[in-house]
Amino acid sequence: MSEAIDAIRPNNGPDDRPDHLGHYPGYDPLPPVLMYHSVAPYDHDPYLVTVRPQRFEQQMRWLHRRRLRATSMRELLAARRNGADRGLVGLTFDDGYSDFREHAQPVLARFGFTATVFVIADLLGGANSWDQPGPRKTLMTAGEIRHIAAGGMEIGSHSRRHVSLTSITTAELTAEVSGSRAILQEVSGQDVSGFCYPYGHLDALAVNAVRTAGYHYGCAIWRSPLTAVHALPRSYIGDRDGSLRLLAKLYRHHLRYRPPALGQRRR
Ligand SMILES: [Zn+2]
Repeated sequence: MSEAIDAIRPNNGPDDRPDHLGHYPGYDPLPPVLMYHSVAPYDHDPYLVTVRPQRFEQQMRWLHRRRLRATSMRELLAARRNGADRGLVGLTFDDGYSDFREHAQPVLARFGFTATVFVIADLLGGANSWDQPGPRKTLMTAGEIRHIAAGGMEIGSHSRRHVSLTSITTAELTAEVSGSRAILQEVSGQDVSGFCYPYGHLDALAVNAVRTAGYHYGCAIWRSPLTAVHALPRSYIGDRDGSLRLLAKLYRHHLRYRPPALGQRRR
C-alpha cells in the first residue's frame, strides 16, 4: 500500500471553492476518521471518553442523512485502493469497552455502518486501569470480541497493556506491537491489520515497529511529521458534538488537506 495515502493530487480545474463538507474539488484527501471510546450513560467523565447513547445515535443519523457511510478502517482503506472512498468516513473505537455491544453495535447495524474496535490484548475482560482514579469501565472479553468480529466489525490492536510506546525498551515495544497482533489474531479469528497507538504517543521507532510487525495501517490522533498510512490522524468526537460541531470537525479535516497554494493565500 502506498505510504502517501493522504497525499493530495494537483487540481487542474478552475474551481477552488470547497463543497458543503469542505472538500476541495479535484483534491483527494483520505476521508475523515472519527475517534470514539465509550458509548454509555454517565454522571462523571473526567477523561472525556464517553458519548451518551442518544448523542451517538444522533451523530450516526447525522452522517446517514448527509449520505456519508461510516466504515471500519479495513473497508475504508480497501475502498481507497479502488478509488471508491468518496462519501465514506472511518469509524474507530479505542480500548474495546463492553458498552460497545449494547450501545454502539445496534445503532451501527441500523444504519448499515461498520467500525474498527482497537482492543488491548492483555486486558480482555479487564478494565481501564490506566485511567487513574477512574471511573472504571469494563473491557470486552475474548468471547465478546469474537462476537462483534462475526458481526462485521474489524478488530485492531491497541497494544498489550495500554502503555505509551515512546517510553519503553525495544523488547517491550516488540511485545506490545507484534505480540498483541499474534494474540488478537488468535482471539478474533481475523487478520489483524490495524494498530492504534495508546494515548496517540508515537515516534519513528514506534511507527517502524508497527510497519515491520506487518500491520497495514496505524491510527494516531494528531497530525505530525510522521503522518502517513502507519500514523493516520483522527478527529476526536465527544458528547458535546452536535450536528454543527460535527460539521465543523469534518470541514476542518478537509481544510487541513487544502491545496498548499490556497492555504498560503488565505492565511
Ligand atoms: Zn486507549
